[in-house]
Amino acid sequence: MTDTASISLAKRRDDILAELAQAASPPPCLVAVSKTQPDEKIDAMLAAGQRVFGENRVQEAQAHWAERRAEYPDLELRLIGPLQTNKTDDAVALFDVIETLDRDKLARALAKAMTAARRHPSVYIQVNTGEEPQKAGVTPDGLAALLKVAVEECGLDVQGLMCIPPVDEPAGPHFALLAKLARRHGLKGLSMGMSGDYALAARFGATDVRIGTALFGAR
Ligand SMILES: *Cc1c(COP(=O)(O)O)cnc(C)c1O
Repeated sequence: MTDTASISLAKRRDDILAELAQAASPPPCLVAVSKTQPDEKIDAMLAAGQRVFGENRVQEAQAHWAERRAEYPDLELRLIGPLQTNKTDDAVALFDVIETLDRDKLARALAKAMTAARRHPSVYIQVNTGEEPQKAGVTPDGLAALLKVAVEECGLDVQGLMCIPPVDEPAGPHFALLAKLARRHGLKGLSMGMSGDYALAARFGATDVRIGTALFGAR
């Protein structure tokens, strides 16, 4: 990657951080979504000072981060894509935060994997706020029961909620619903907002925004 190209990635990051600081105080944590990005862009983002990254596939995340992890002890890796129960061991070994818990069976598999690995990543529950049949996430109505299983039965460290609003609807009402659900259950973390709507999400109280394209350029 040329110097000019990495300077422009660093500048994009600065601009987004400034925009987030304008939108909310304290601003949400910027989660840089590095899925499908080439090594040189990931290295440029690290050089710019970015330390929190999101990935949506376990295998790709291993390829991106298994070695870099040793070089950057202050790295924080988050899983933001759907997780299958047969990948929980790998996910628990690599990630610091798993944002996509959405069913009892996965809560139990995660608890088992964490006990075996003696590693306890924190967890967010993904809520399907638009109740879209093709989308992952527990329904708003199912959240209370899943939380109970995750916390009381499995002892998971549930820190917050995550959502991906339907693409064809205004995001505001979905962000408001997620914030309301989090308040109702006493959860602090709110992972919401992507490239197109992170400033809006910040105004609705997001604690974490997941940004790929606006930061790295098109995938
Ligand atoms: C890819 C992805 C993002 C980032 O999307 P952009 O529109 O590129 O910012 C955020 N969240 C999840 C769950 C994703 O899969």
